[in-house]
Amino acid sequence: MEFTGISAASGYALGPAFLLQDQQIIVIKSEVAKENLDSEIQRFEEALRKAVQDLEGIKEKTRQSIGTDEAEIFTAHILVLQDPEYSGAITEMIRSEEQNAEWAVRVITDKFLELFASMDNDYIRERAADLRDVSSRLLRYLLGISTQSLSEITEKVILVAYDLTPSDTAQLDRDKVVGIVTNIGGRTSHSAIMARSMEIPAVVGVQDIVEKIKPGEFVIVDGSEGKVIVNPAEDLIDLYKNKQLSYEAQRQELKKLVDQPSVTPDGVRVELVANIGNPQDALVAVANGAEGIGLYRTEFLYMGRQELPSEEEQFEAYKAVTLMFGEEHPVVIRSLDIGGDKELPYLEMPKEMNPFLGYRAIRLCLDQTDIFRTQLRAILRASAFGNIKLMYPMIATLEELREANMVLEAVKLELLAEKIPFNKDMEVGIMVEIPAVAVMADRFAKEVDFFSIGTNDLIQYTMAADRMNEKVSYLYQPFNLALLRLIKGVIDSAHKAGKRVAMCGEMAGDLTALPILLGLGLDEFSMSASSVLPARALVRQLSRKKARAIAAAVLEMDNPLEIESFVKQEMQDK
Ligand code: PEP
Ligand code: MG
Repeated sequence: MEFTGISAASGYALGPAFLLQDQQIIVIKSEVAKENLDSEIQRFEEALRKAVQDLEGIKEKTRQSIGTDEAEIFTAHILVLQDPEYSGAITEMIRSEEQNAEWAVRVITDKFLELFASMDNDYIRERAADLRDVSSRLLRYLLGISTQSLSEITEKVILVAYDLTPSDTAQLDRDKVVGIVTNIGGRTSHSAIMARSMEIPAVVGVQDIVEKIKPGEFVIVDGSEGKVIVNPAEDLIDLYKNKQLSYEAQRQELKKLVDQPSVTPDGVRVELVANIGNPQDALVAVANGAEGIGLYRTEFLYMGRQELPSEEEQFEAYKAVTLMFGEEHPVVIRSLDIGGDKELPYLEMPKEMNPFLGYRAIRLCLDQTDIFRTQLRAILRASAFGNIKLMYPMIATLEELREANMVLEAVKLELLAEKIPFNKDMEVGIMVEIPAVAVMADRFAKEVDFFSIGTNDLIQYTMAADRMNEKVSYLYQPFNLALLRLIKGVIDSAHKAGKRVAMCGEMAGDLTALPILLGLGLDEFSMSASSVLPARALVRQLSRKKARAIAAAVLEMDNPLEIESFVKQEMQDK
């Protein structure tokens, strides 16, 4: 059986399927007859016992594979389950109101959560997150919903899921998960971006795939073509094993360029830097010859945990990356961009109709300035150790930029008063990912040190096509002339003001887009680490003169497919 989806991370993977279950928990209220109350309570106690037993197992596995600190999260969960106030209230409700165990778990949990929400205390907030987790575990046992979790993966598998959240993806063990397939998602959903940076072949947006694959079935993931093959014949397995070998050989060949400069044949130096989510990614970036970091997505530091990271913890992470790149290579740290597809359960953000148009990134930071200030302090402190630049995400108006800068100035004064060193001339730029800013780039250029074009969002907002929705992925067009005109306008405005322009959206690492962007005058390309060497190989063969001619020609066209095939043809003729 063969299925087609969207290629999210190239490469090939073969192995047994591991299905990540994510069924919805639906709780229905029902009456329990008096004579059945004892057995209903027993059913609840059995679920409780099983939940504790499983959590002990997961805790031990986590302790061995990740570490003691991480395992402690599960100790907290076990303590909640063993708290007699909680379980006692549930059994009491089953008995006194003669209602089913699931309903009692839901009602009592909600009561506790309400109580917690009325207390303004970090510790209590963490307990609320624990309570939410364990109550859904209890409900799954009661309802008989399977609870396969990522921590249970012990052998090399192809992970098959309806969807993967960025925090699920952050927890993946890349030695165990060799390929990824999901029902939904687009090429620029954050899980796809992470799969690329972890170099795990992935295909997303494969309709109904979770329903079509059974656990353990043999699967081939063709991340390069966006294909998934289930239960393939022997000859297909051989074919894909060969493809895997030649893909690997090609990558080894590219490795020869690691220490080579990214210079065009007519002598133009192009900056090729990497996008990362954590200090480990930075090591991969160095190994792939990145000349710095063009986008450090700091939100991943805030995920897969129960509370906000402290200033000290953030400082250590930012400093570690900066030290890896030394004085002359830039590390662009982006302030927190939470929201959209990146959730933080412990921040208790309300569910939104349109999260990508909602309370995210700089909007949240300017509202919850305590979170913002802590991060800015950590970034400034790390700036004393290398060439850190700060970048704000999702800026829509000049006022937001000015307000963010005011918070930054206040934090600088604080550090000065505390005699804590930082780079007083740290450059500050913005992401250009909202069309309003691209249109107003001439005004913004006067008030920033640099721009970084975030095409992942800029495309979705320009085309009104959700970057996560495979049904409208045909509208998600990097080669649409509307987008190319916006990009040209941003570059021209910045250059007029003597400012540099980078691009850190996925388009920067697209080998067909690269000639156009180079021709339009883009200064810096920031991409997944695995794209750096292929991009370098291309830059070393493409003169700026030719790139300019390509850019000029495509600006006269209006069909994205025509533009794409024109560039491909030109590059073949080179
Ligand atoms: C972008 O929008 O292009 C970008 C780089 O930011 P993110 O993908 O994290 O939204
Ligand atoms: Mg963005």
